[in-house]
Amino acid sequence: MKLLDLRLTGFRNYEDQTVEFDPGINLFVGQNAQGKTNLLEAVCYLSRGAAFRTRKEAELIRFGSEFAALEARVFSYDREQSLKTVMFAGRRPRQLFLSGVKKPSREDLDGVLNTVLFCPEDLSVLKKGAAERRKLLDDALCQLRPRYARALEEYRRNYAQKSAVLRERDEHPELLDLLPEYNERMAQTGAIIITTRAKYIRRLAERAAVHHGAFTADREQLRLSYQTVSTVQDPTASARQVYDWLREHQESHARAELASAQCLSGPHKDDFEVAINELSVKTYGSQGQTRTAAISLKLAERDLFEADTGEQPVLLLDDVLSELDAGRQDFVVNCIRSGQVLITCCETDRVTHAGRTFSVEGGIIRTAEP
Ligand code: ATP
Ligand code: MG
Repeated sequence: MKLLDLRLTGFRNYEDQTVEFDPGINLFVGQNAQGKTNLLEAVCYLSRGAAFRTRKEAELIRFGSEFAALEARVFSYDREQSLKTVMFAGRRPRQLFLSGVKKPSREDLDGVLNTVLFCPEDLSVLKKGAAERRKLLDDALCQLRPRYARALEEYRRNYAQKSAVLRERDEHPELLDLLPEYNERMAQTGAIIITTRAKYIRRLAERAAVHHGAFTADREQLRLSYQTVSTVQDPTASARQVYDWLREHQESHARAELASAQCLSGPHKDDFEVAINELSVKTYGSQGQTRTAAISLKLAERDLFEADTGEQPVLLLDDVLSELDAGRQDFVVNCIRSGQVLITCCETDRVTHAGRTFSVEGGIIRTAEP
């Protein structure tokens, strides 16, 4: 999947700008507040129908402009297609076009341009609590596996209902009769969730370890391990077997759930640990190591997306170079050889030898002299 070009009109700080991309590495250098992240935001918007820094379309329209338009030509699945979106100030709804034909819904544009984004906020995936890491898994798997998305939705619904029954056990003891049904459904959907996550993590770990090794000239080994319900001896076992283990856990925690009025059994607390040379990144990772691991995970995510769909998403790396030493910076700028990559950085003397370098200044993008 390749982005051929992009025109931004009235988008953020861009008045009217066209960029022609290299099929490999595209490095955008510029000082702070010049429009580098705005450019990645535009690509993301075309890819996903939403910007990553705001939910409000009005913020994307250039101050004083009536509308913003983004238009890109994309080469994917052996053909060239164009994507266009127009957003309006005021209440008028946005318009979407695929190869010139107006489309009623965002889903009509799905899959034309896929992106994997790394932005500095992603570092919290490794440093903060388990919820962030579960979200990373769930986002990726919901895109790739419809059965997983359905199981997760049902699990969350049952979890909320069971939690409410437990909370209100004194005022409404009659509702406790519903618990066996919730437990049964949560063990069934929980088994699908656990086995799917475990298999994904195993593949993600393999690929991320390869990238992290290349990134660090094999000085560091990256390892991921999935942590789920304690009775589940092997999360990659059959869903039937995992179901039995979940039922076992539910039974042994039934009294504690009633006593604490909380749902204590199931994969809603799952996590995965990321370790470098056997030390937890969350606890011991340096800034550079954490950043390297986060980028390796994104590269791995892109590999798995490609393995499952046949197309490699465009990789968007926002502000990745800071905190990385010279060798690791060189890896990012010159060595991510597969597929198309858009990288932004504030180091204005940086150039890539594996693609095209652009300068970004006050909403103007120029190809830097080679
Ligand atoms: P940094 O290196 O600090 O991350 P950047 O080059 O990534 O900088 P951007 O986040 O792309 O900078 O933003 C550049 C500028 O765009 C900001 O100064 C902001 O004021 C401006 N901007 C944001 N939204 C709009 C808008 N709707 N209209 C006009 N300008 C805007
Ligand atoms: Mg930025």
